[in-house]
Amino acid sequence: MVAVVGDPIAHSLSPAIHNAAFESAGLDWVMVALRVDRSRGASIIPAFRTLDLVGLAVTAPHKQAVAHGVDRLDPAAGALDSVNTVYRQGESVAGTSTDGDGFVAGLAEAEVDLAGRSVAVLGAGGAARSVIDALARAGVGRIAVINRTPENAVIAARLTPCASAVAADDAAEAVADADLVVNATTVGMGTAAIDQMPVAADLLRRDHVVADLVYHPLETALLRSARAAGAHCVDGLGMLVHQAALQQRLWTGTDPDLVAMREAAHSALDRPR
Ligand code: NAP
Repeated sequence: MVAVVGDPIAHSLSPAIHNAAFESAGLDWVMVALRVDRSRGASIIPAFRTLDLVGLAVTAPHKQAVAHGVDRLDPAAGALDSVNTVYRQGESVAGTSTDGDGFVAGLAEAEVDLAGRSVAVLGAGGAARSVIDALARAGVGRIAVINRTPENAVIAARLTPCASAVAADDAAEAVADADLVVNATTVGMGTAAIDQMPVAADLLRRDHVVADLVYHPLETALLRSARAAGAHCVDGLGMLVHQAALQQRLWTGTDPDLVAMREAAHSALDRPR
């Protein structure tokens, strides 16, 4: 058995996606969603050690507390001070973060070449930081980090020498200079925000790749505008499925059925929320 922990947790798509993969692989495994109160993050790893769980998916607000509780962190999770996946390595409890590598895998699936590219990342929260770290390891040329709160952009840009924080006044220029524009803010998320844009529509061009991490809804106002401008658009589903696929490999040791996982994610997103 594996579990996904967070607070709140009822909205999580992880059980649907992972259980589809277990079923497709013929594994008699199940993922359950467990709400762990936001004040109890430090108790997650002790509980994991006690219960005979194979692994954990970790979501907000517990990613940092779990990073501090595991025996081993890989370098990316250490740099991010954030863990979204817990797995067993012999007698040890190990933590990693699959978000950024899942994002890069989603771009690869969408046939986006990253080598030497110039990227504008909108946002500097947990997801943006994972993406910045993974894009740097994937060999992009430079990353401009643009964020509502400038101090957070400065902190996120410290993750890699190829990133720099861009002041609000220079944001338009940074987007204009970018090959790839990534929305890693929460702007556009949820039905109430259906028309909200993290960047002005007239900055988007035909030769841009525009990736949105938001997956609810899948077609955000940003992607609608980017599509209208003729840009290559990548929605948030690829990252969602690929970060879960990387978790599956750590837990089961095998490659999961991506088609089943994608279908399960689509069905779960189509259900009323
Ligand atoms: P987070 O840590 O809370 O960060 C939120 C970011 O959005 C911060 O940079 C914040 O700026 C910015 N922001 C919030 N409201 C804003 C506004 N009104 N105007 C401009 N900027 C605003 O959240 P997160 O975990 O990084 O998640 C970010 C998004 O990525 C969410 O939509 C989440 O669902 C999505 N996500 C998708 C996947 C996937 O698999 N597709 C995985 C992880 C996350 P400040 O610093 O100024 O507060």
